[in-house]
Amino acid sequence: MILSELKIENFRNYALEHFEPDPELNLICGLNAQGKSNLLESICYLGLASSFRGAGDNELIRWEQPYFYVEAEAESKNHGKLHISAAASRKRQKRWTLNHQPLKRLSEAVGLLHCVVFAPEDVLLVKAGPDLRRRYLNRQMSQLDREYCRLLMRYNHILRQRNACLKQGDQVDMEQLSAWDAQLAAAASGITRRRAQVVQQLSPLAAELHVELTGREHLDLYYESSVLARMGRPEIPPPSDVQGSEKLEKELNVFYLTEITRVHRAELQRGISLVGPHRDDMVVRINRRPARDSASQGQQRSAALTLKLAELELAQQQCGEYPLLLLDDVFSELDRRRRNQILNLVRGKAQTFITAADDRLPLPSGQRWLIDQGRIVR
Ligand code: ATP
Ligand code: MG
Repeated sequence: MILSELKIENFRNYALEHFEPDPELNLICGLNAQGKSNLLESICYLGLASSFRGAGDNELIRWEQPYFYVEAEAESKNHGKLHISAAASRKRQKRWTLNHQPLKRLSEAVGLLHCVVFAPEDVLLVKAGPDLRRRYLNRQMSQLDREYCRLLMRYNHILRQRNACLKQGDQVDMEQLSAWDAQLAAAASGITRRRAQVVQQLSPLAAELHVELTGREHLDLYYESSVLARMGRPEIPPPSDVQGSEKLEKELNVFYLTEITRVHRAELQRGISLVGPHRDDMVVRINRRPARDSASQGQQRSAALTLKLAELELAQQQCGEYPLLLLDDVFSELDRRRRNQILNLVRGKAQTFITAADDRLPLPSGQRWLIDQGRIVR
């Protein structure tokens, strides 16, 4: 995937900018608070249909302006030439177009401009609670698999409805609750099966990259789900094994229903759903120990980067082309050796965008851009 042109209007601190990036490497430099991360955010918005910093659409609109507009021309091996645009105004819903035709559903927009992004807060990916790791999985899987994206939206909808039902406590309509139980179990089984498969695929990729990055550490991953544990941690078939995948999903469904029924009383007391993939985790281990408990600051940073680069490789394996790689402030706190290692690991693979407040960084190839008060200066 190559982004050849980007037009941004009223996006964060940009009034109107036109950007024609280098097809390989773009080093985006500038002092603090000039708009480096905002530029990555605008690219990423077109890929994720949301901000990678978790900002709502209104926050993305330039202050005092009524709307923002972002438009990209990209070249994809699989989809040919792509023209994608997104607009959001303070009053109306967002509007998306693909090759100048309006898109009806948001899920159709996700993943068109496929991006892997490393944001400064991703350093917490290993150490923080499971929420960030679930988001890491959801974001990449939604871009890779439209069916997963739909399933996740559906699951979140069911979860909200079911929680509202549980909040009624003793007054709850048991028939209605059991209808939600069945829907939750079905969606949960699909999500759990797919996540467990993706983590199993990511683990060897991450292990290999992590050795290259650190020189010696062994890193591995596994998907932790209370229901899979109850099932005695069954073998996870690869996604190519369609029958095995269906069988696992059916078994998951049975176990989910049993588990949900088992915790009904506690759920009604607390008013929330206690079983489901919204409570699962992806365990990251370094040298066979959970990294969450023991990793040093440097190990956390390297492991987080490894996870992103593994995501990039998995996307390449599944789609036959690399997504865009957006690395926001990835070099801070890293010594020269690690910086060069990162550049070596991505060279010749994905079109890469790296922001850095330090403009003296040596650039082996590609283009250096200077950002100055919401303007892109070459
Ligand atoms: P750093 O090196 O500190 O990471 P940066 O160049 O990445 O800096 P950005 O995060 O891109 O900086 O933000 C640049 C500026 O954009 C900030 O000063 C911020 O106040 C401004 N900004 C954020 N949202 C908006 C908005 N909606 N309208 C106008 N300006 C905004
Ligand atoms: Mg920044």
